[in-house]
Amino acid sequence: MDERPARPAAEQAPVPAQVSFWWEAAGRPRRRRSLPGDIDCDVAIVGAGYTGLWTAYYLARRDPSLRIAVIEARHAGFGASGRNGGWMSGHMAMSSTMLADPARRDGVLRLREAITRTVDEALAVIAAENIDADALKSGNLRVAVTPAQEARLRASVAQELSLGATEHDVRIVEAGELGSLINVAGALVGAYTPHCARVQPAKLAAGLADAAERHGVTIYEDTMVTVIEPGVVRTRRGSVRAPVVVRATEGFTARLPGQARRWLPMNSSMIVTQPIPGSVWDQIGWQRAETLSDLAHAYVYLQRTTDDRIAIGGRGRPYAFGNGFDPAGTTPAQTSAALARILRGMFPPLAEVAIEWCWSGVLGVPRDWNPSVGFDRQTGLAWAGGYVGQGVATANLAGRTLTDLITGTTSDLTDLPWVGHADRDWEPEPLRWLGVQAMYAAYRYADRREASAPRPRSALVARIADRIAGR
Ligand SMILES: Cc1cc2nc3c(=O)[nH]c(=O)nc-3n(C[C@H](O)[C@H](O)[C@H](O)COP(=O)(O)OP(=O)(O)OC[C@H]3O[C@@H](n4cnc5c(N)ncnc54)[C@H](O)[C@@H]3O)c2cc1C
Repeated sequence: MDERPARPAAEQAPVPAQVSFWWEAAGRPRRRRSLPGDIDCDVAIVGAGYTGLWTAYYLARRDPSLRIAVIEARHAGFGASGRNGGWMSGHMAMSSTMLADPARRDGVLRLREAITRTVDEALAVIAAENIDADALKSGNLRVAVTPAQEARLRASVAQELSLGATEHDVRIVEAGELGSLINVAGALVGAYTPHCARVQPAKLAAGLADAAERHGVTIYEDTMVTVIEPGVVRTRRGSVRAPVVVRATEGFTARLPGQARRWLPMNSSMIVTQPIPGSVWDQIGWQRAETLSDLAHAYVYLQRTTDDRIAIGGRGRPYAFGNGFDPAGTTPAQTSAALARILRGMFPPLAEVAIEWCWSGVLGVPRDWNPSVGFDRQTGLAWAGGYVGQGVATANLAGRTLTDLITGTTSDLTDLPWVGHADRDWEPEPLRWLGVQAMYAAYRYADRREASAPRPRSALVARIADRIAGR
């Protein structure tokens, strides 16, 4: 551990993204050849993120005779899969409407059980395939720092228990015990679940791509797909003809023809500190490296990296007009400064610790905030995504589910309620932009109010925003 005194934060300028710190730390990605011209195969998968790679991996293991081609615009793990917070969480995004609907209770319970088990399934493959992804099943801590956050945290734990979770799955950590785990300034109470692993995202994507190739999958990089149609994927380098085509482009989906209003490309930004000296860790605690978040409406998520840094992410500038985003992940200075302020507010001993990197990525958000996976046997078109920022483990469940659907295997995965889930489109512009701006303005205002005028209830404006957004 580097025990040199950290440089003053004021001296640090955020470094522009070259995809992400994770790729920089992992070593630049190994590049693969691009599509050599027209080809035929059995399954064509568009996108080499976790969704495409897990799907390819499980399909190849299920039926080694299948000719599987993954077609990727840049390189494996270029998207959110190489940029995320590294929470492999046994928790799937589900809207409050779905959670509260008694008619869907059975399906919700089965889905929750399936995603909880997914963490161990993914970790087992990581171990079996010798993927070095800094994976550690350290669990997850959520920490409330205002009475309103505390109320939300307690209500959320109560809801999880009412939906079949046990005290083993989730428990309240009162302030005394919380302090022995981690010193978050002003922490009132926390909640702990063991069902989460910390991973190094880019190393996981790189390792998965290599593992899929070992099982016979071919990955073509630097090949932008321009059109997806039944039976064919078109690119400027040639066409891939296949009876089954999987769309695995999550946050990028809106840029495909005909998909502009399917999943909103939501931005999420991250910064990472320099390695933190042991003397500072002594003040912070966090020895077990649980993944960590607060309960703000515009929440942040954190991990302690394997080389003793802290990576923290949040929404930054959540959505740019007309599905705009910078694929390279360049991040405005005010976004990284805002994240740094939140980080130092949570951990005052980091005042002098420098921020070394910042980057952004896009994730897919469906209009009803519920992810989906599906396969239309008639057209041969399949898809998965819309994970609302919880795609690391969910993509594994999607990959296994698509494998069952595509191979015609009826299983306990194929009748989970997210299979074939149809959602309405997002509103056209400018309504979409105005709606998301208003929602996040409301959340930020609510967070400020809850901090400055503490009361044990979510601010009204945030409750209204949730209701209107249909979260
Ligand atoms: C900053 C950030 C932090 C996050 N943190 C977490 C977290 O801690 N835990 C969690 O569970 N989830 C997190 N998420 C969400 C999670 O990372 C994603 O849901 C998940 O990685 C999606 O995987 P994917 O394979 O579906 O999409 P992606 O990883 O985005 O992959 C899609 C791929 O498709 C390629 N592509 C797109 N269009 C085309 C085209 N036309 N032709 C060819 N290829 C194309 C892209 O280049 C990309 O490589 C985070 C997301 C972001 C952005």
